[in-house]
Amino acid sequence: MAGERQADCLFCKIVAGEVPATVLRETDTTVAFRDINPQAPTHVLVIPKVHYPDAASLAAAEPAIAADILRESAEVAALERTVDSGYRIVFNTGSGAGQTVFHAHAHVLGGRGLNWPPG
Ligand code: AMP
Ligand code: ZN
Repeated sequence: MAGERQADCLFCKIVAGEVPATVLRETDTTVAFRDINPQAPTHVLVIPKVHYPDAASLAAAEPAIAADILRESAEVAALERTVDSGYRIVFNTGSGAGQTVFHAHAHVLGGRGLNWPPG
């Protein structure tokens, strides 16, 4: 069935508590935890508990959970006090865009100047 846990998925293992993570927030549908290789003072990943390979497939199948990801990203930005200075939500989609973990996730980045266009 769509959205089911994948045995070989790192982020499904984090959802299940089988791989440790520094969790900031958890809801019925999402988990937010610090990226292990931070690219900014605030670098948090917000993931759905269900497994979809990327943000677009999540939004197509479970639009309410895709909206939860955006709401939780804003909660993380508030928790990290990056709302006033600005923050960025990134969904790398496809290996050509730098996606390495194929379980949908938002990167929430902040706490430093963020250049545009991105690299
Ligand atoms: P992406 O490259 O967009 O697929 O993002 C995957 C992110 O997951 C990268 O920024 C990694 O640093 C991060 N990451 C990989 N393994 C872990 C882990 N065990 N805990 C937290 N973040 C991780
Ligand atoms: Zn997964």
